[in-house]
Parts: sequence; C-alpha cells; structure tokens
Amino acid sequence: MSLIVTGSIGIDTVITPTGRADEVLGGSCTYFAAAASFFTKVRLNAVVGDDCPNPLLEVFDHFGVDTEGLEVRAGSKTFRWTGEYHENMNERDTLDVQPNVLVEPLPPMPDSYGDSKYVFLANTHPASQIELRQKFPDAKFVIADTMNLWIETALDDLKSLLSQIDGIVLNDSEAVQLTEKSNMIDAADAIAKMGPKVIVIKKGEHGCLMRHPEGLAVLPAYPTNQVVDPTGAGDSFAGGMMGLITELDDTSLTTMRKALAYGTVVASYNIASFSLDAMKSLTREQVDERYKSFAQMMNCV
Ligand code: AMP
Repeated sequence: MSLIVTGSIGIDTVITPTGRADEVLGGSCTYFAAAASFFTKVRLNAVVGDDCPNPLLEVFDHFGVDTEGLEVRAGSKTFRWTGEYHENMNERDTLDVQPNVLVEPLPPMPDSYGDSKYVFLANTHPASQIELRQKFPDAKFVIADTMNLWIETALDDLKSLLSQIDGIVLNDSEAVQLTEKSNMIDAADAIAKMGPKVIVIKKGEHGCLMRHPEGLAVLPAYPTNQVVDPTGAGDSFAGGMMGLITELDDTSLTTMRKALAYGTVVASYNIASFSLDAMKSLTREQVDERYKSFAQMMNCV
C-alpha cells in the first residue's frame, strides 16, 4: 500500500519552560513521515531551500522515507518557525515565522507517486493543499490537517479544501473557531456538512474524538509525565493513524479506532524529546508494546 505526505519541512527553534532547541529539524510533514514510517513506506513531497544543512535531511533516510519528491531548491530559503510553550505545555506562542520557500511554487510531484492510495495533506496553506489534492484524483482516502492561522486568513480556501477531501484532523479550539460551536459533537456535525466524512478532533492531553460514517470514537491521551516538547504531537499522531490505516488498507470504524490508538501512542513518544530525537531511537516492537498496555488501560468491558 502507498502513503504520501505533503506539507512543510522547517528549521525550528523551540523554547519550553525547561529548555530550548535551536535550529532543529521540524515541519508538519517531517513529524508525520517519521511517525508513519513505523507502519509503512512513506512517500514525501516537500521543498527546502539550499540553506538547509544536509545532516538535518539525513533523518529521512533513517526512517526509510522515499525522498524522490523532496526538492532542495537552489537560491531559496527553508521555512523557519520559532515557538515558545506556556508553563502548562498545552498552549504556545509563535514568536517568529518565515514562510520563505513555502510561498513559492510547489515542488514537482514524481510520476512514481501517482498511484498513491492514501494521501495526507499536512499543514500548509489550504490553497497549496487544494493544488496537491488535485494531483491524486484516484486516491482512496485523502485527509488534511489545518491550523488556526488558515481559519483566520484563508477561510474560503479552507472551505473549498474541505469539500474535496475524505477527512480532516484539527484541534478542539480550531473546531470551535471554524464552526462557532462549543460542543464537540455539534462542531463535528457542522464540519461534516462542509464535506469530510471523517472528522478527528484532537484535545491535547484530553485525547481525541472521531466522527466516522459508522459511528463515534473517543480516546484518552496516553498518560505520561515525560513531556519535553509537544511540537509535532498532532503531526506524529496523524502519522501513526494514517500509517496503521495504510498498513491494514482499511478505513472502517474498527480499524480507525485502532489507528487513533496507534497515533496516540506514537505521539506520546514524540513529545518525550525535542525535534525527532525520541522517535529516532524507537522501534515498532516498542510501539506495539505501548499500544497493548494502552488498550489494557482502556479496557472497561
Ligand atoms: P504541530 O505541533 O503538530 O502543530 O506541528 C509543529 C510543526 O509545524 C513545526 O515543526 C513547524 O515547523 C510547523 N509549522 C508551524 N507553523 C506552520 C505553518 N504556518 N505552515 C506550515 N508548517 C508550520
């Protein structure tokens, strides 16, 4: 089965109440690709500038990601993002963002990616996500991520995107902002009316809720006190989720419940370090072990 991810690769500077990491690899599709690689081969379509240090990009080889669709654009600058987390680690402020190459034309899409069945449009401008979505008219399942910035500045594009995709993952605060409904069931119903059949609402340390054509699913977060840097939690959650769906080649409610749990488990590892460091030393066996103990914790039948 084939899974492709599009989105941003960034050079991040992250400040938390207990530490900081300067100029580390980040970006929406980076975390996603690493997380999904525990389940399936991942195709990457993204662009960086020629200022991006080579060692940063070597991480994609570590995770066995197919980088035929990764462009290093001469004369362009890589996307940069600086964020600072509040004491509670749930909220953060963007201190600096330099879109750079992200506002230039999209990178070429390799012909070899044309048969991708599962597509994840990681966070970037919704107009770019629409352009990318249209490159996969025969895909089986297309899911997108988004953020508050696009609800505020590109709502028409976002609504057009929503009418062209099968599913969306977003935070609870973004769901409220998008629908003006404060109840999550009402918000999910309102988003379903905009197009997507599957709506996954992430609630940070309070887990997630999914509206699926076959019914609802709810899941807590994996309980952990090892929270070093929450950056990429949403992207690694989506990567684990889409990775499992691709591995099982199934989007039924039963499989997607399992996929939410796997996404939660991979995200719980990701937040235990800055950048991708924790995922770099992770194995599929460890992921499966934590999945089993998570399922045990939730067993209430
Ligand atoms: P998350 O914590 O899941 O929201 O993802 C954080 C990642 O998103 C960081 O590594 C950033 O490089 C990237 N990011 C932040 N803002 C944007 C943006 N406007 N467009 C694309 N990617 C972004």
